[in-house]
Amino acid sequence: MKLRLSDTLKRQKVDFVPKNPQRVTMYVCGPTVYNYAHIGNARPVVVFDVLFRLLRHLYGEEAVIYARNITDVDDKINQKAMAEGVDINVITSKFADIYNADMRALNALEPTIQPRVTQNMNAIVAQIEALIRNGHAYAAEGHVLFDVESYKAYGALSNRSLDDMIAGARVEVAPYKKNPQDFVLWKPSKPGEPKWPSPWGEGRPGWHIECSAMIEANLGLPIDIHGGGHDLIFPHHENEIAQGVCAQHGHSHQEESYARYWMHNGFLTMDAEKMSKSLGNVLLVHDLIKEFPGEVIRLALLSAHYRAPLNWTRELLEQSRKELDYLYGVLLRHKAIETWVPSERQACNEREGALLGALLDDLNTPSAKAKLFDLANNLEHLSNPNVERTEDAAEVAPTAASLVKHEFLLLAGVLGILQQDPEAWFKGGADDDLSAKVEALLEARKTARAEKNWAEADRIRNELTALNVEVMDGPAGATWKLKA
Ligand code: AMP
Ligand code: ZN
Repeated sequence: MKLRLSDTLKRQKVDFVPKNPQRVTMYVCGPTVYNYAHIGNARPVVVFDVLFRLLRHLYGEEAVIYARNITDVDDKINQKAMAEGVDINVITSKFADIYNADMRALNALEPTIQPRVTQNMNAIVAQIEALIRNGHAYAAEGHVLFDVESYKAYGALSNRSLDDMIAGARVEVAPYKKNPQDFVLWKPSKPGEPKWPSPWGEGRPGWHIECSAMIEANLGLPIDIHGGGHDLIFPHHENEIAQGVCAQHGHSHQEESYARYWMHNGFLTMDAEKMSKSLGNVLLVHDLIKEFPGEVIRLALLSAHYRAPLNWTRELLEQSRKELDYLYGVLLRHKAIETWVPSERQACNEREGALLGALLDDLNTPSAKAKLFDLANNLEHLSNPNVERTEDAAEVAPTAASLVKHEFLLLAGVLGILQQDPEAWFKGGADDDLSAKVEALLEARKTARAEKNWAEADRIRNELTALNVEVMDGPAGATWKLKA
């Protein structure tokens, strides 16, 4: 099975070959924790979670190391802490916890490690020292700056030349900079702001250095995959490459000595505008998960190819809910079919290559979803006694159905959906008291029907309707769900 990924640096789709298949490494830039994440921020989390799940399937759970950092040093954090008169870690620990809980609600697996800037200051200072030692950075007036002229490949990721960048410069010109494009690695803190010791005076790191230093210290160089949203290509990831490459002793100026594959997701938009805090058009994950199951939101986020823009609407959420209701409905109707369990030897066969083909081809989630519907239809067909069968099909039906169910659940598992008990899905949102009441009413209805007391059975059904419960009668008895 061959995984192909669109690499931003190589500007084409390429075969993914990890440096070491026993230790596959991935890093995705995480949140700055000073307020709630919006649904646009959740897009990279869910997209790279699908990649994380796929890599774990291909290379083994223990073989994949996924780091998603927490930026807990930042001007906006300082402003919020000062406004509230508290220490920054009061703000950052609160919003990091909320962020993690919100992303868990979207079925995102915990990354293997979640490095924080405040816990990696030594690594950051060490990388800046290496850059100075290697002639790629200089200290001036309490600042340390990266000397962009010293790195010839600067601009390779974002496909810009240094001359173009200088011509269109909107960067800060400062007396301590040799070149307006030189960017900050370390700077003095303003009075009252948090500060850390360094050879250049007390201060704090710039934004870009945190990621390259945490990658080197926590994962080792080069990593296999580096990801994030499209807006991070320039300057953040361009600067990360410059730092990550130039900090290495005796480096060969090879961009790939930092990260071997670069992936970027497209923007989530609303009414054709990028969702962003600065535009003020944000929907918070924290609010959405109160209204919709996390799985619905996740499927909506995966409804477009990750590199394409995704237009976020209420209809998209309603549609995703209907799709999950249908797919869980199929699982519920065929609950009795035992899922086939492959032996280790059987797992990575050709059939599996075809099953995961859409995802192996640059994470094509819309096409993977279509495959899931095909499998659901197959399952209905193979296990429906009313469907006319050829003699052959009748003979293979039981094992074929359990194989299809296995494939359905495997593909759904890599997408991170459809893993809960279908009955629990339909009862989602009902508390224990309501569940107990509904079960009791269904039992009473069953008795009334057995006694052919139709008036009583109808009365009970009306009572269930009043509780917003929809009853689904099936061959294995009645099941129920809360109406949307
Ligand atoms: P930020 O907190 O702005 O640094 O964003 C955290 C992550 O979310 C980064 O990977 C961004 O690229 C990504 N991101 C921010 N806004 C959007 C959006 N509207 N659509 C998709 N990704 C986004
Ligand atoms: Zn980063």
